[in-house]
Amino acid sequence: MNPSSSVKVRCCVVGGGPAGMMLGYLLGRAGIDVVVLEKHADFFRDFRGDTVHPSTLQVMDELGLIDGFLKLPHQRLQKMDGLFGGTPVRIADLRRLHIKYPFIAFMPQWDFLNFLREEGRRFASLKVMMNTEAVDLFRRGDTIAGVRATTPDGAIDIEADLTIACDGRHSTVRERAGLEVEEIGAPMDVLWFRAGRKADETENLFARVEPGKMMITFDRGDYWQCAYVIAKGEHDAVKARGLQALLDDVVRMAPVLRSGIADVKSFDDVKLLTVAINRLKRWTRPGLLLIGDAAHAMSPVGGVGVNLAVQDAVATANLLADKLQRGCPTEDELDAVRRRREFPVRMTQRMQVVVQNNIISGALQGGARPLRVPLIVRLITALPWLQGIPARLIALGVRPEHVRSKAAPTS
Ligand SMILES: Cc1cc2nc3c(=O)[nH]c(=O)nc-3n(C[C@H](O)[C@H](O)[C@H](O)COP(=O)(O)OP(=O)(O)OC[C@H]3O[C@@H](n4cnc5c(N)ncnc54)[C@H](O)[C@@H]3O)c2cc1C
Repeated sequence: MNPSSSVKVRCCVVGGGPAGMMLGYLLGRAGIDVVVLEKHADFFRDFRGDTVHPSTLQVMDELGLIDGFLKLPHQRLQKMDGLFGGTPVRIADLRRLHIKYPFIAFMPQWDFLNFLREEGRRFASLKVMMNTEAVDLFRRGDTIAGVRATTPDGAIDIEADLTIACDGRHSTVRERAGLEVEEIGAPMDVLWFRAGRKADETENLFARVEPGKMMITFDRGDYWQCAYVIAKGEHDAVKARGLQALLDDVVRMAPVLRSGIADVKSFDDVKLLTVAINRLKRWTRPGLLLIGDAAHAMSPVGGVGVNLAVQDAVATANLLADKLQRGCPTEDELDAVRRRREFPVRMTQRMQVVVQNNIISGALQGGARPLRVPLIVRLITALPWLQGIPARLIALGVRPEHVRSKAAPTS
């Protein structure tokens, strides 16, 4: 493929998800010549993780964006209550945290990404190229010197001093760079669907666990967002039992969905999301850095993936924006991002694995045995002051980042 055109930039960010759009915003704000490539024409894709946690809200506050952001339609969650084998449990209570934004904002991810894109338009040095898919890397000696991309108008070479891959868990850049992924694994997959919600339908439960079954529901205003958790590899068996068997199960676990479940008309309305937990051993090559899901895919447990991706972007800008003013940071300077972020990633993944192995796996294998509420959940429910600990981990994560990269004088 011969490129029909080429451009040269200081930094090329591949992928316009939470990591890429936040990083593009921060580097544009710092006056760095940066281009973000997004392969889709828009951000409108369902089930991408719509939970904006207090750590991200704090970042938006530090950027002076919070007022506009919270004007966008969203729902707020403060308490995480559930039914475990019929027993009421409380998993976390964000009201116990002494922080500025003690709630999780549920907002469609496309609204979040569009907002960052619109706000970023004021930075002359930031360009977002939609419909542009990175398909390969090109090298100068051992150094990654940029990406080759396809656009509706043909191929384009983007020569960059630094390429930062934010292209998600199926990263093309990672594959082209030959970086090794360490798989940690997950025992479950998730079926996502929407059920209509009437104005008078309210329920404060978000998790329901029964022998062999688990379900999460979020009130999203005019619909319920539902996640039905299945054991890994069970998707075909669920389909073989038929749609009605699945919907009957769903309504039995969550009677509030009785009327809205009619929105699920076929298995086309039920999306399978394959859960993975993995991480890279090495996040860099000369001229290349990977962050977000491209460096570490997160389980949906805790709904933290979007927020970790944003934290990675903040840390990257903090550590590299100044250096990028002068040229490409050395590989050791790029590796400072891994050194900063690997600990929070490992700790978060470890907690996700503990929840998966001790709560989710046990529940999914439950069969006919009565379910016992795990000791840790019983303790958290019984001792309200303990509810602040999971709340803090979910809300702020491990070692939260703050915006330290400077805004360019003109921005
Ligand atoms: C079942 C499930 C549920 C989840 N629920 C939640 C949740 O509720 N809350 C939460 O915080 N997290 C959740 N997550 C995790 C979350 O979705 C991710 O951790 C997060 O989106 C990672 O952000 P990212 O920017 O690194 O990557 P992504 O969000 O994957 O973004 C990557 C972007 O790069 C683009 N792209 C890919 N390849 C190319 C290419 N070659 N060229 C150009 N562009 C490209 C993609 O189109 C995409 O826009 C969930 C994950 C799963 C599997």
